[in-house]
Amino acid sequence: MVFVVSAVAVLGLPPYLVSLWRALPAVWRGERRSPIRHLRLFSIFPRSYLSGLLAVTAWYGGFAAVGGGLLVYGILGFDDGSSSDDPPAAVVLMAVFFAVAALLLAAALPLTVLQWVMNAFNRPHRLVPPRYRDKAGWVGEQARLNRQRASLPRTDHLVEIVEADPGDGPGGRFLVAVCGDSSCGWMGYADEGVAAEEENLRAKAARHSSQVAAGVIRPRPDA
Ligand SMILES: [Zn+2]
Repeated sequence: MVFVVSAVAVLGLPPYLVSLWRALPAVWRGERRSPIRHLRLFSIFPRSYLSGLLAVTAWYGGFAAVGGGLLVYGILGFDDGSSSDDPPAAVVLMAVFFAVAALLLAAALPLTVLQWVMNAFNRPHRLVPPRYRDKAGWVGEQARLNRQRASLPRTDHLVEIVEADPGDGPGGRFLVAVCGDSSCGWMGYADEGVAAEEENLRAKAARHSSQVAAGVIRPRPDA
């Protein structure tokens, strides 16, 4: 089983990595999509293709080198690298495979963190293809969407400001914003005790809709 996995890693991963590196120039120029997009630990976008590829190469190259070491060990069938009966060339070859694996896997984690930084902030710039350098990472993009959402009203329902008169009620007259959309039913009230009641209420209504009627609808004195 170990033998099969090792053989697959050694034979399969290097050609796969080569195919990914060959796609780099076209992805860098923006001429094609990234051939890898989502791995378990991180996404790879065209703007973060180079950094993603470095991390993927370290991980997969490390696995392939481990596989190579195990394969040498399995094929030559020696028990223990320290025994004097072992073919010295094979021991050296295995040691080289494992040393390469150790180097690549030691680099893999920092490179993975670098990829997270690239996706979040689109930095460092020199790893970003020029045409994507002015883009924000997902952190900046999220902040932009939040600002946009906060500044835009959610609907274009017609909202009217109405003065309600509860008659002999304890609070006296007060203003209500009423949404005229029949399927909506949104209503708003000014904050309690606020001095500029109408302004306060209009600000709330403006967050519900871009269409708030001017003026206040007041009940007629004789009504
Ligand atoms: Zn509404």
